[in-house]
Amino acid sequence: YSIIDREQMQGLENIRAFLKIRTSYDVLPLSFRLIVLDTELLIRKSLTILIQNNIVSAPLWDSHNSAFAGLLTSTDFINLIQYYCQFPDRLHDIDQFRLSGLREIEKAIGAQPLETISVHPMKPLYEACIEMLKTRARRIPLVDIDDETGREMVVSVITQYRILKFIAVNNEHNTVMLKKSVREIGLGTYTNLQTAHMSDSVLDVIHVMVEHNISAVPIVDANNRVLNVFEAVDVIPCIKGGVYDDLQSSVGEALSKRAEDFPGIYTCGEDDRLDSIFDTVRKSRVHRLIVIDDDSRLRGMISLSDILKYVLLFGEENDAISPDAVSSISSQ
Ligand code: ADP
Repeated sequence: YSIIDREQMQGLENIRAFLKIRTSYDVLPLSFRLIVLDTELLIRKSLTILIQNNIVSAPLWDSHNSAFAGLLTSTDFINLIQYYCQFPDRLHDIDQFRLSGLREIEKAIGAQPLETISVHPMKPLYEACIEMLKTRARRIPLVDIDDETGREMVVSVITQYRILKFIAVNNEHNTVMLKKSVREIGLGTYTNLQTAHMSDSVLDVIHVMVEHNISAVPIVDANNRVLNVFEAVDVIPCIKGGVYDDLQSSVGEALSKRAEDFPGIYTCGEDDRLDSIFDTVRKSRVHRLIVIDDDSRLRGMISLSDILKYVLLFGEENDAISPDAVSSISSQ
């Protein structure tokens, strides 16, 4: 082991120790709003609510049983689109679907149902992270039990980004120890990269995301230079007028509909170090990093789950889930 290796490992261990003594509750800001949707709501209305409030996901509430009913995310809308592709003559029904029907849609298209996991807000943050990695969930609801009524209560939802940001902001002294480059630690994916062109249809790109179980597809030119990235959440504005609406239009057109405050795309080089990635996370709303060379050509993709997986599990042998276990889960 070199000094750099040892320092890197020490930095990781310090961060892991930090995650074990902090709770999910600690990640939440002092004041925040939470939009919860009733499962009786029509799916098309839920789309309008998400767009109007500039959010991409919301917890669901089953008011018949007074119980938390999972999270609505862009995956549900992608499922709805697949359903439409398989049963185009059911367009009228699709318009009348309620959020409570999402599980039926999943079944009809043979999608693997997403586990409705949740964690208690006072449990160590480390556990929430491990749950996320095990299930490939990108966000996890915090569910508590109300003392008076004994009923479930959705407190908030935490995302991979919020956790990484929390680590970055509170661990500057530890993240500076992470001096190994992206290339040296093999962070991210560099083979079998899925890309698309500006002229491809939105539907084509959605099929690529579904087939490869990924949430973002870089849009490249004929020389493999990165122009943009189409993300699963970009599907939401495409179907606000109905599932049939804009799916045939090009990715280029769809990307022009992004909200004003779209945080932008973030790139890095293979020689960038993990500490500089944490600097980026500290300062900006990053959802993934696109690895490019000096000529802006695509080299790889680093997802937040890749970073979280490395930070939590690298070098851990006796842990509940080994890195191998995680990657076999994510490739299912
Ligand atoms: P997350 O689970 O954090 O949302 P993604 O779904 O984007 O992340 O990525 C899941 C895995 O697939 C990660 O290991 C990531 O490196 C890889 N990946 C992401 N985008 C692509 C792509 N366009 N082509 C191939 N692999 C990708």
